[in-house]
Amino acid sequence: MTQQTHRIVILGGGFGGLYTALRLSQLPWESTQKPEIVLVDQSDRFLFSPLLYELLTGELQSWEIAPPFAELLQNTGVRFCQAVVAGIDIDQQRVDLQNGTELPYDRLVLALGGETPLDLVSGATDYAYPFRTIADAYRLEERLRALEESDADKIRVAIVGAGYSGVELACKLADRLGERGRFRLIEVTDQILRTSPEFNREAAKKALESRGVFIDLETNIESIGKDTISLEYKNQVDTIPVDLVIWTVGTRVSLVVKSLSLKHNQRGQITTTQTLQVLDHPEIFALGDLADCVDAQGQQIPATAQAAFQQADYTAWNIWASLTNRPLLPFQYQKLGEMLSLGIDNATLTGLGIKLDGSFAYLARRLAYLYRLPTLDHQLRVGFNWLVRPIIETLSR
Ligand SMILES: Cc1cc2nc3c(=O)[nH]c(=O)nc-3n(C[C@H](O)[C@H](O)[C@H](O)COP(=O)(O)OP(=O)(O)OC[C@H]3O[C@@H](n4cnc5c(N)ncnc54)[C@H](O)[C@@H]3O)c2cc1C
Repeated sequence: MTQQTHRIVILGGGFGGLYTALRLSQLPWESTQKPEIVLVDQSDRFLFSPLLYELLTGELQSWEIAPPFAELLQNTGVRFCQAVVAGIDIDQQRVDLQNGTELPYDRLVLALGGETPLDLVSGATDYAYPFRTIADAYRLEERLRALEESDADKIRVAIVGAGYSGVELACKLADRLGERGRFRLIEVTDQILRTSPEFNREAAKKALESRGVFIDLETNIESIGKDTISLEYKNQVDTIPVDLVIWTVGTRVSLVVKSLSLKHNQRGQITTTQTLQVLDHPEIFALGDLADCVDAQGQQIPATAQAAFQQADYTAWNIWASLTNRPLLPFQYQKLGEMLSLGIDNATLTGLGIKLDGSFAYLARRLAYLYRLPTLDHQLRVGFNWLVRPIIETLSR
């Protein structure tokens, strides 16, 4: 009797979904058990978001940080399907795509990440620039170019949120705009990088100060206009002129995830067990930014690439185990530390007993991310380019 082939459908090809697909394809399936693996994403390419800032400074190119899925999944047996997920019928075990395709599944992986909420403040949807996707980076690049080509003496930029993205963007863009840039970094709490280790926070403060970035703490955004931003500090509203507002605050799950009749936390994330399965639905796994997960040591898992990447390994293993009658493993998160870019040729890192800033940290961060890029083939192509590019640039001067 021939066994029926199981189908694993993975929704979202980011840090959670793509790395789960790649890992699943490497596991030791017996030929009779080999499942069909389908990866669905609305985009045709993966995005290595920790390096997205480098597109704006020209330090890196799109192909390096956003390789096409078709290239990454070559020879893996994983089928890629470019489509928007429109709905999931949990009872029928079926995914509905916006193009009309229906995808029945035996195992489902939810890895659709999050979205930047722009509707928190009046005018933000119309006038603020989010910074999460490659399309966001291209749109911001276009605006920056227009401003650089204008005859304005100064370019006034307001960045909302002094978390990682806000601080990293402020430093990179200050380096790009040089003397013409005027930056304000606006933060609602009383300090920047609230959750970071002291060493990284201090390094960031120094980097921002040396670039002349003005920091507004304990400040709310009242509204954003076409070329103004209204800031509220100690109950007083001050409206200032700006050329560009970048919004980096908040993450929320998409509507398609929110509408699922599964257990969600207050932020809309889906609650999982330690084995990364969805409560009452052992056939569904959830990971990355959309999952609310506490690991085997009781640690609440942060919404970071580092966490999603580690969860992908366990998700793949546990799917394999569930289809081959083996015990599933509880997720164990290892906090490896934190790295931040602080401008061109500058970074800071704290982790694994090491504290480093300046150009050594910049190099270490680059190498760590090179190692984390998906597939050995892509790592080699990018690594080779990083070695050869400076030589070509020197020769062509
Ligand atoms: C600018 C920036 C810098 C960052 N830097 C760091 C860092 O230095 N270190 C760190 O650890 N983390 C960092 N993060 C956070 C990190 O990127 C996320 O935590 C991580 O990407 C989460 O992985 P994920 O798989 O849950 O979601 P994602 O990687 O966001 O992947 C989700 C995927 O789902 C797809 N998708 C969404 N909705 C649909 C739909 N309806 N239909 C089809 N496809 C859909 C998207 O196209 C996307 O490919 C950064 C994030 C940003 C935005």
